[in-house]
Amino acid sequence: MHAVDHVDNARRFLALTDNQAFLDRNLWGLRQKRDAQMKAHPEWQALRTLASEIKEHALSHLDDYLEMFERNALANGVHVHWAEDAEAHNRIVHQLLTAHGVKTLVKSKSMLTEECDMRPYLAERGIEVVETDLGERIQQLDNEMPSHVVVPAVHKLARDVSKVFARTLGTDPDNHDPHYLAERQREATRPLMLAAQAGMTGCNFAVAETGAVTVCTNEGNADLSANLPPLHLVSIGIEKIIPRQQDLGVFIRLLSRSALGSPITQYTSHFRAPRRGGEMHFILVDNGRSARLAMADFWYSLKCIRCSACMNTCPVYRRSGGLSYGGVYSGPIGAIIDPTMDFKRYSTLPFASTLNGSCTHVCPVKINIHEQIYKWRELVAEQHDLPFIKRSAMKTAGIILSHPLLYRGMVKAMHTTVPYLPSALVNSPLNAWCEGRELPPMPKQSFRQWYVEHRQHNDPHGVHTS
Ligand code: SF4
Repeated sequence: MHAVDHVDNARRFLALTDNQAFLDRNLWGLRQKRDAQMKAHPEWQALRTLASEIKEHALSHLDDYLEMFERNALANGVHVHWAEDAEAHNRIVHQLLTAHGVKTLVKSKSMLTEECDMRPYLAERGIEVVETDLGERIQQLDNEMPSHVVVPAVHKLARDVSKVFARTLGTDPDNHDPHYLAERQREATRPLMLAAQAGMTGCNFAVAETGAVTVCTNEGNADLSANLPPLHLVSIGIEKIIPRQQDLGVFIRLLSRSALGSPITQYTSHFRAPRRGGEMHFILVDNGRSARLAMADFWYSLKCIRCSACMNTCPVYRRSGGLSYGGVYSGPIGAIIDPTMDFKRYSTLPFASTLNGSCTHVCPVKINIHEQIYKWRELVAEQHDLPFIKRSAMKTAGIILSHPLLYRGMVKAMHTTVPYLPSALVNSPLNAWCEGRELPPMPKQSFRQWYVEHRQHNDPHGVHTS
């Protein structure tokens, strides 16, 4: 597979100015709602610390908790399967569906099944997978990956959705009313749900001491997928394990507040045992997680509860859109997870960041996201995987920044020449920085000049601050 060209992908999305503005506005709105929730809860930072500690403890004893979870799930009458990788996961699902004569599987949102590429795998073997989450369904009908872990079609406008539905469901292409579109989708999907022989859900949390799983949704589609058909499959990433039932409250309080700024998801469903006459199967999936657990710099990424707060706050994500990352996981968390799966393919993603640290600041489980992004950059540079221009520019910057006299000379030269350069040269297509922004006027003096001037005329503490 080709390496993802994030810059090129971002450029394409930026050209869709209405979509870009809509995405930015919506996600920033979510960030503000999250902030309001945080401020309303004086115990917020204590909750974050607790969540982080619970996750780190669980990950440090993952083998024990996984076995405890399996024991308890088996005792509850659930079948438990272990999948080393995506291929094993898909094979297990296929075998189960074939054994039950299933031709249609209804499914609620699960990033793990996207990660395993399960839909095409089953389609090739004659089994249709129907997404029941509205956003996921839109993306499925448009043949696109989800662009966001919580709101998969957030980059689309209503008019984009009506185009997709007109093409695939035969709706009125000129009716962009979201209620009309949602209702038509529901009418198209509900009969499939009622007729389906098997349903699948993901899992937000798997509780070791009870052997139960918790699924958080806003549409109730997971409950329909799980409860209507007689066969319920649950795909579980092994990092979803938490030790005790009482730990759940910590995460439930943080998850939706961090994601959408709402106190709780509309549905928080707990599945512990198969319903009478039915079957329940848990598929515990590794797919590179154990290897990541052994990576000293990156294992903290396994604490992620997929709340999306880091995406909603990231200025690069809000402008470039999730699809520009070219992987299942996008945004700041994608920039650190995706390279663990395929270093070459995703080596540009750690550069899709300003390293402002906002992602780390909002993360409910205190993942040091921007530090891990920076670490990936170092590794990419060590592997000589940087493009020639970036490599040369960084080398030159390194020389200038490590020689103070040279640096000051350069600042002085820029200060005197840039204001007189013709605008066509400054704003030329070769200067990517000036695409979409104006170069601000040069300040009258540099920070260093200002500092020296004020220090000379001031008290023993140095800078005059009045
Ligand atoms: S890294 Fe943190 S903020 Fe980002 S999705 Fe995961 S839990 Fe949420």
